[in-house]
Amino acid sequence: MVGLVVEMREKGMGLPELVEELLKYHRMDEHFSKGRILGSMCTEPHPVARAAHMLFIEANLGNPRLYRGTASMEKEVIGDLGRLMGLDEPAGYILSGGTEANITALYLAKKKTGGRYVVYPKSAHFSIQKAIKLLDLKPLPVELTEEYVMDVDHLRKRLEEVSPGRLAAAVAVAGSTELGTVDPVDEISSALPPGVPLHVDAAFGGFVLPFLPFRGKYNFEVDGVTSMTVDPHKMGLSTIPSGALLLRGFEDFKRIAVSSPYLTEPFAYTLAGTRASAAVAATWAVMNHLGREGYGRVVEECMENTRFLDRGMTELGFPHIIEPVINVLASGIADPEGLQRRLEDAGWYVSKVCKPPALRFVLMPHVKRRHLEEFLKDFEALIQT
Ligand code: PLP
Repeated sequence: MVGLVVEMREKGMGLPELVEELLKYHRMDEHFSKGRILGSMCTEPHPVARAAHMLFIEANLGNPRLYRGTASMEKEVIGDLGRLMGLDEPAGYILSGGTEANITALYLAKKKTGGRYVVYPKSAHFSIQKAIKLLDLKPLPVELTEEYVMDVDHLRKRLEEVSPGRLAAAVAVAGSTELGTVDPVDEISSALPPGVPLHVDAAFGGFVLPFLPFRGKYNFEVDGVTSMTVDPHKMGLSTIPSGALLLRGFEDFKRIAVSSPYLTEPFAYTLAGTRASAAVAATWAVMNHLGREGYGRVVEECMENTRFLDRGMTELGFPHIIEPVINVLASGIADPEGLQRRLEDAGWYVSKVCKPPALRFVLMPHVKRRHLEEFLKDFEALIQT
């Protein structure tokens, strides 16, 4: 980011002027509550999450002995998330989001195996590319099937290109960013040589799939899965920054430990130093407030809205690329970029898929039926001009 050329003021701003200025900038931002953001994987935090966040605003989990309360909440959240993902006694941390969780997972895998090569589906989120660059790993992208999930036959071919000892990790996605697909995690696990860490990125799907009648296996119920990313700040309705990394046990974290002599704990195991306890408290609050039943209702409404928009787009001549698996809809369209721009001019924020060309919608909890009815009306008018 390039900074604006503004001098830091000598004298501070008075409160009324400050508030006015803040509101000016706040009005420049888009807000989920208007229901016009149709392509984001984040949403309005639940009110209990907001309240808990504010209560713990000064706490820093980078120094856990000062913040024993928030450290206890983090343990509870990691335990609950592990059980949601099919693991009774997980280890893990709440990090700044899916990107940090994925980078840490590959860092741990590299340290454990000494390997450099990473196999991952072409549908993987770009945070996997960040991890590969940062950790100086070697990418082995795997083609997708016609259903847009990792092609296990191609994975086998990729695996023949390197000796097992040179593999650092395999990555699978449960709830892909562009199409919401879920890779065949059990088949992927069976195709891997023994001992290769298998990381499942369920940053988005982790708070959706457990509440759907989804039959595929995608979590720690598959023996070969060694780590998972699950983000409370997406469908978990928590505040930003909150992304969980879950592991089968704590041992692996010791490989990335560094001594932290001036803090209250002798070792640090996370990439970030100072860590936002506030988002951990927010996650604890919303998970305990909603419970499985509450998340079930949230997901059901999102899926109903996904089907509603899918029907509407199909009637207008833009059928889905694949039947939505989760609350992500991709409607096939020849020029998604042009339409995306025109929609933005009309005040609607959707995103796009390049291959295959499609408009991409994420039906988050802030998107209500009335917003979609309005969107479909505007969209119909726009494609007729
Ligand atoms: N993994 C997946 C599947 C995602 O969809 C995303 C973001 O949308 C990420 C990782 C990265 O998460 P974050 O933006 O919280 O770092």
